[in-house]
Amino acid sequence: MPTGIYNRKKSHGHAISKSRKGHKHSQETKDKIGKANKGIWIKFHCDYCDKENEERPSHYKRKHRHFCNMSCYSGFRKEKLSIQEQHAYKGIRKEGHSKQIYHRRYVANNPTTIRHLKARRYARKKGAEGNHTLKEWEQLKEKHNHKCVHCNLDKPLTKDHIIPLSEGGSDYVENIQPLCRNCNSKKWKKLDV
Ligand SMILES: [Zn+2]
Ligand SMILES: [Zn+2]
Repeated sequence: MPTGIYNRKKSHGHAISKSRKGHKHSQETKDKIGKANKGIWIKFHCDYCDKENEERPSHYKRKHRHFCNMSCYSGFRKEKLSIQEQHAYKGIRKEGHSKQIYHRRYVANNPTTIRHLKARRYARKKGAEGNHTLKEWEQLKEKHNHKCVHCNLDKPLTKDHIIPLSEGGSDYVENIQPLCRNCNSKKWKKLDV
């Protein structure tokens, strides 16, 4: 059995900061903690459908608006908020502008992502197993020093499926190698013959 005076050390993990030492909770705080622990719920009216609902005090306090569920929240956003407020977090879309404008702008500004997604959709259509992320493809190019695997030249690289999709190859990154356009088309010619 351990004897002597027990000194709390920082390394014990539960070290109490100096400013909190000897601090006691007020009665109000104690009540709050007690309520929370007993599972007392706060009643509120949904800001969208006005149904009565309950929520944990800790959750309730954190929000300005209160909803039954996500569908009430999305309804509220669509009907009660102006379009500027709806898209305020994006900071781009203005009233009267269609989504297509923003989509087109996104396509123009993110050609790499779009090319990647298109290729992925193509593979999926062909019935290929699995897929890979843009990051994996970037890492693969990094691994080969951004050079064509076949001719070792520093040219713009295209994705090549080692086992072609048409022959049941997967779309996992393991089945992909970076080839320059020249080598890629040569490979296709070879397969055709
Ligand atoms: Zn509701
Ligand atoms: Zn090449």
